[in-house]
Amino acid sequence: MEHVIQGTLTTADAKQHRAHSFDVPAGATRLDIAFDYNPKQVEAPPYTHLLCFTLFDPQASRGTRHNNRDQSMTITDTFATPGYTPGPILPGQWQVVVDTHRILPGDPISYQFTIQIGFEPQVQHERPQPAHINRRGQGWYRGDLHGHTLHSDGSWDVPDLVVAARAKGLDFATLTDHNTVSGLAQMDSLGSDELLTMGGMELTTYYGHALALGVREWIDWRVRPGERDMRAIAAEVEAKGGLFIIAHPKSKGDPVCTGCDWRYDEMMPGSARCVEIWNKGVWSEQNEQGLALWYAWLNQGYRMVATAGTDVHGQVPANIRIGFNTIYAEALEQRALLDAIRQGHLYVSSGPTLRFTARSESGAQAMMGDSIADAGVEMVCTWGDVTEALHLRLIGDGDVIETLPIDAPGEYDWQIPPSRYHWFTVEIRDDQGELRAVSNPIFLT
Ligand SMILES: [Zn+2]
Ligand SMILES: [Zn+2]
Repeated sequence: MEHVIQGTLTTADAKQHRAHSFDVPAGATRLDIAFDYNPKQVEAPPYTHLLCFTLFDPQASRGTRHNNRDQSMTITDTFATPGYTPGPILPGQWQVVVDTHRILPGDPISYQFTIQIGFEPQVQHERPQPAHINRRGQGWYRGDLHGHTLHSDGSWDVPDLVVAARAKGLDFATLTDHNTVSGLAQMDSLGSDELLTMGGMELTTYYGHALALGVREWIDWRVRPGERDMRAIAAEVEAKGGLFIIAHPKSKGDPVCTGCDWRYDEMMPGSARCVEIWNKGVWSEQNEQGLALWYAWLNQGYRMVATAGTDVHGQVPANIRIGFNTIYAEALEQRALLDAIRQGHLYVSSGPTLRFTARSESGAQAMMGDSIADAGVEMVCTWGDVTEALHLRLIGDGDVIETLPIDAPGEYDWQIPPSRYHWFTVEIRDDQGELRAVSNPIFLT
C-alpha cells in the first residue's frame, strides 16, 4: 500500500510546521517513508534549505532526523532508522509534519513523501538494555552535558561518542540529539563503571535552543503562538523531572545556525535557572557574550547556574582546550548530578580545578551555588592543575575585585566586609583573556 503526499513551500512558510495525515490499516508491520524536495541548494551558498520531518503515530511522536542529508526512514516494531523510535505500527491516523527550519530566498520548494505500508512479518531486533553499573558515591565528577550523533546531525554513532568520552577520562557524557530521544536506549546500554551515560534532548526551536536533560520521552518542542510558549515547554520539562538549560544563548543565529540564538523575551531568563555559557568546547566570543549575559541576569537577582556543553557532533581535534563541567554530587547518577546542577554545585573548566567556599565568623559555610549571610565573610579559593602563567580573578556583582597572577596550584582568601556585594565568582584566565575556568556563584543574603 502506498501514499504519495506533495506540497510546495516558499520563504513565507519558513519556521512553520506543516502536517499531512495518512491512514495505516490494522495488521501493518512496517512503514518506509521517503522524503524528497527540490531545489535543495540555493544560489547563495554555503547555506541550504533545512527541512526535517517529524513522524507521529496515532498516540505520540516517533521522532525526527534533524539534518539535510538523510531524509528517508524505515520503522517497524523493533527497528527504526536513527532519529526515529521503533514500536508497534498502530492502526489509525498517522502524520508526517514538515518542520521548515530554514527556507532561503529563491525558487519555491516542491516536496514529496512516498509512504509504503508493509504487512509482512519483520525481522525482530533486540532492544538495548540499560547497563548495570556500580554506584559511585559523593564526590566531584567531570563530564559533558551536550552531545549529538547520527540520530540528528552528528557524523558519528552513539558508541563513538561514548568511546570518545572515555578516552578523555570523563565521568559522565550526555546525549542530547535535536528534537528526538531515539538514541537514548542505546546510550543507556553503554554506561559502565567508568562512565555514566545520561541523556535527554535538545529542544531545537526556531528562536532558541534549550537542553532538556534527564527526560526519556519526547518533549513537544514546537512553540505555537497562543497555544504553547517556551514557558510551558520549560515547565513540562521540569514537571517530568528534567532539567531545562538555555543552550548557547549568544550563538550566531540564522542563517548560519537556525534558531541558535536565544530570542524568547518571556524567558530572559523567565523561569529558566540554568544557562550554557561554555558551548562547543573552545572558549569563544559567543561564550564571552553568554558569560556577560549570565552575569547580567545574576545582577538582576536571578539565581542562575552556569553550565558547559561541548555540543559535540563528531570527532574533535586533539589539543584544543575543551570546557567541561565538574559537579559536586551525592553520587555518580543522573538524578544526583541534575540535582547538584540545580543547586549550582559545579564549575566549568578546560583544565584548572577550582574549589570556592565562604565562611562567616559564626561558623556558617557555603560552597559555589550556596548562600551565606552577608555579615562579613571570608571567601576562599583553591586551585590546581595550573602549570603556566594565568590570572585568578575574584568577581563581585560582575566587577573584577582583584586579579592575582598564578602559575602553580595554590590557595587565596579574601575578607569581604558586609553590605558591599550580592554574589561572587572566581575566574581563571590566560594572558589573552581566554577563560580557563569559572565557578558558579556564592550568594550573600
Ligand atoms: Zn543548539
Ligand atoms: Zn547541540
